[in-house]
Amino acid sequence: MADKDDDNPNFPDPQEISRKLSDFLKSNFGDQVSFSTMSEGGNPFATMEEESGGNHDLREPETDILEFDLLPRQIKEHLDRFVIRQEEAKKALAIAVCDHYNHAKYLRRLEEENPEKADEIEFAKQNVIVVGPTGVGKTYLVKHIAELIGVPFVKADATKFSETGYVGADVDDLVRELVRKADGDVDLAEYGIIYIDEIDKIATASNMGGRDVSGRGVQTTLLKLMEETEVAVRNPQDIQSQMQAMFDMSRGGKPSKDNINTRHILFIVSGAFSGLEKIVEKRIRQGAIGFGADQTSTVESGDLGALVGTQDFIDFGFEAEFIGRLPVRVVCEHLDAGDLFDIMKHSEGSLIRQYEREFEAYGIHAEFGDTALEKIAEEAEKEKTGARGLMTVCERLLRNFKFELPGTTIAELKIDGDLVDSPTEVLAALLEKAGPVGDSRVVGEIAAFRRKFEQEHGVRLTFDSEATVALGERAADRGQSVLSLCEELFRDYQFGLKLIQRNTGRNSFSIPAEALDDPDKFLSNLVVSSYRDDSGDGGGEGSGGEEFNLES
Ligand code: ADP
Repeated sequence: MADKDDDNPNFPDPQEISRKLSDFLKSNFGDQVSFSTMSEGGNPFATMEEESGGNHDLREPETDILEFDLLPRQIKEHLDRFVIRQEEAKKALAIAVCDHYNHAKYLRRLEEENPEKADEIEFAKQNVIVVGPTGVGKTYLVKHIAELIGVPFVKADATKFSETGYVGADVDDLVRELVRKADGDVDLAEYGIIYIDEIDKIATASNMGGRDVSGRGVQTTLLKLMEETEVAVRNPQDIQSQMQAMFDMSRGGKPSKDNINTRHILFIVSGAFSGLEKIVEKRIRQGAIGFGADQTSTVESGDLGALVGTQDFIDFGFEAEFIGRLPVRVVCEHLDAGDLFDIMKHSEGSLIRQYEREFEAYGIHAEFGDTALEKIAEEAEKEKTGARGLMTVCERLLRNFKFELPGTTIAELKIDGDLVDSPTEVLAALLEKAGPVGDSRVVGEIAAFRRKFEQEHGVRLTFDSEATVALGERAADRGQSVLSLCEELFRDYQFGLKLIQRNTGRNSFSIPAEALDDPDKFLSNLVVSSYRDDSGDGGGEGSGGEEFNLES
């Protein structure tokens, strides 16, 4: 028998145990008891943000709420870096969040000094309701606020709670999920933010159809959480977490808090609320009867924020108590093509940066021109999914480029108006220029050299297809790596290039195949022509460093 088997006498792995236990429980108790492991998809609140690594830059390791000292203005300034438009929403959220955490801080201090007095303090929590169409930045705002403050953040769809039999989709699980996001730190979880989208789907008005009973039920349960309640850290129905608790105790682990108090958890709910304008309109008209008011006035979505009131939400189908717990009302605006352009061009979280990084990983320097961004924005607007449309359009536009170009000798991709208008033709032309598919090792080593050069000297080098092929061949002939060949050929290049940069402002230089025969001569020609007050492009030989944004 092999040693390995002696060490591991066919012991089943934890997943198999979990599967077997799960089957056993199901056959004995039906759906009344669940067995789930968070790591294998048992987490009903795994959001897109989490999958894409969203919430990872929480202020580590611990956030002490007593240190909260941000001003609404500072929160708004932070949001401005990422979120385009939504000015009123940014302001209202910034104020609500500051009030919320300042109050929490005040109470925490008071509890330490005078617990009895702390109990007497009354405070109306600034929970927020955000109205707005899909993809306009509602989640994005909340996520960035949570990251800035350093509190855990959980997002879920209200519709999940009305689906019966959905494993684990218990409103209390939202609170438990905060603990998981806070790495088990219950104290921090008690100051987290719970964000519930599609809240309009649990309205109970008859026009919502079908969901009345469960909708009201969910509203009542959420109401309890929004007020103040204690939620058990471990789901009483989840055998595994109960077992985990037993194991922890038997291992002598320190007993952790059993309950999470929801008093300081900030709730933000949102939804598209289609039809809300009509309700507001109707109320305004009815209120105006007899005063000769304009019976035809309509409520534009831009005015909604100022006009919408508690009664409108009640008419929409919410219980008065429920809506009463959401005193801050915020409207997020529709984004037009101009806004979508700004998102790509100016938001720090721009999708364009992501695409550039993705191409860069294959050694391809991708640059988006303004005309291309305008065209992409116009296409995306037609999708009617807000900024999400940008992703759809870019993916469709660049899919073939991402598939065909990696591994070829193409090292530059200019995404300009032509490419957006005729992607197939532009790709074909590029591939023709690329010649045979290059050795990806060559492309990779050249990319590594370029990255290092740019990092060290702040000057970007690019190599066209011919130069890439030539470098690969030369390195093979000499039995040398491409990287070391580049380092040898372009040793001390930074001095000449920086001189040109000072003379002309250029910081990107394309190296053609001819340059490899005599790199020093090529560079000195470039330097000489940079002193001439002509085109500044190196006498034609080294062209390619022009500012791409000035698209022709
Ligand atoms: P929703 O309003 O449906 O919650 P999200 O906030 O999830 O939409 O937006 C989806 C993505 O679109 C975000 O992750 C972000 O990248 C981008 N986005 C949406 N709105 C904006 C905005 N106003 N400014 C910048 N980026 C935005």
